[in-house]
Amino acid sequence: MCPTCGNKVDKPTKTWQLVAPLPDAQGRITITVMGVYECDKCGNRWKGVVSKIKAGGTSVEVEGKKGTKKIETAPRSKDEGYVIELNLEEGEEDEEE
Ligand SMILES: [Zn+2]
Repeated sequence: MCPTCGNKVDKPTKTWQLVAPLPDAQGRITITVMGVYECDKCGNRWKGVVSKIKAGGTSVEVEGKKGTKKIETAPRSKDEGYVIELNLEEGEEDEEE
């Protein structure tokens, strides 16, 4: 919606992402998708939030106009991290001896 004349504007002419430098309480990173909207009636331009993406843990949440969409991701990266941790422990023990 145009804040000046009330004309309905659906699609932003330009979008970009803002990534929050700190994770939230659940350890997720919030990516805010910003957009520039342009009114074809009065030519007014304004900035607004297009959607918000919360990524981290085992799911990705996408917050948009149609509500929140939750996408479950495979916990594959967790298994890989566990293997790397074991390898590091073994290496440290060898150095101490
Ligand atoms: Zn307008």
